[in-house]
Amino acid sequence: AGMDEADEAVRGTCEDASVCKRFAVSVGYWKDPYIQYFVRQAKERKAPEINRGYYARVQGVSYLLEAFLKKTECNCQIVNLGAGMDTLFWRLKDENLLPRKYFEVDFPMIVARKIHNIKSKPPLSKPIIETHSGDSLLIDSHSLDSSRYSIVGADLRFSSDLEEKLKKHQLDVHLPTVLVAECVLVYMTPQQSANLLKWAASTFPVAMFINYEQVNMADRFGQIMIENLQRRQCNLAGVEVCRSLESQKERLLLNGWENAHAIDMMKVYSFLPQADVKRIEELEFLDEKELFEQLMQHYCICWASKDSSNLGLADITF
Ligand code: SAM
Repeated sequence: AGMDEADEAVRGTCEDASVCKRFAVSVGYWKDPYIQYFVRQAKERKAPEINRGYYARVQGVSYLLEAFLKKTECNCQIVNLGAGMDTLFWRLKDENLLPRKYFEVDFPMIVARKIHNIKSKPPLSKPIIETHSGDSLLIDSHSLDSSRYSIVGADLRFSSDLEEKLKKHQLDVHLPTVLVAECVLVYMTPQQSANLLKWAASTFPVAMFINYEQVNMADRFGQIMIENLQRRQCNLAGVEVCRSLESQKERLLLNGWENAHAIDMMKVYSFLPQADVKRIEELEFLDEKELFEQLMQHYCICWASKDSSNLGLADITF
């Protein structure tokens, strides 16, 4: 596939992620009243192991994010990199956990679609208007900027352009900032993701980076996963870093981050609140326990921090 086709396939992954999330939500894995406004209902049922995987992914990332919000008492920023149709802004608002400002970045084409949905659906636009104060709210086809929520169309592979656009939207590099990349870095070359991590580490003195993506891809099962994605024209340019938990951690440490952790999703699953895990395990009968465990061992959450103000970010863990 040529360059543009490869980017197009990457953008398609955003649709996939949201369709799967919407399906899992419709079965009752977690609550998200907003995802229905961004994607259609899945044509077919998703397998229980897929739903459980998404449950662990969403709960695992939320757990770390909320730990950061608590440490900083919401006096912070969130920068969601490759956010796609993520509904986190609305969910945090409902939980009274909005940071000072929440930023999202994705390709301009994805951002345009997201903004179109927001503009045409009052349950999405109302919370943005409600939390806005001051001058007029900026909203055009490629960006949105309000007091608490901002969406930026940019290519994450070009960090100076990214920084310039974020700063136009009042990014404050001196506020504690958590950056999240959920299934995003794998689509960039190791050099490109290293640049992004390095940019983030050198831009924010007090920060945390959360990365969710594939791991253990060098084994047989990992090879099959790669082949499946490639069949859909997806260019996994960064899959080399997804070799092991060690290589994931090393990438963070080599690019300016400290206190790096990397754990596979089976571990994450075992650390989630067990009463809720029990509840979701009763939603659907899972026949293929082994397949579920294999899948979960091939995804991970990695996180690292930088903490010149001693907020205790290094203590954040499951
Ligand atoms: N983070 C969202 C989630 O987990 O639901 C979406 C995940 S989706 C698999 C990957 C997202 O990253 C897509 O929305 C894609 O457009 C975005 N993305 C990938 N490479 C990008 C780049 N170089 N610049 C901006 N966005 C990018």
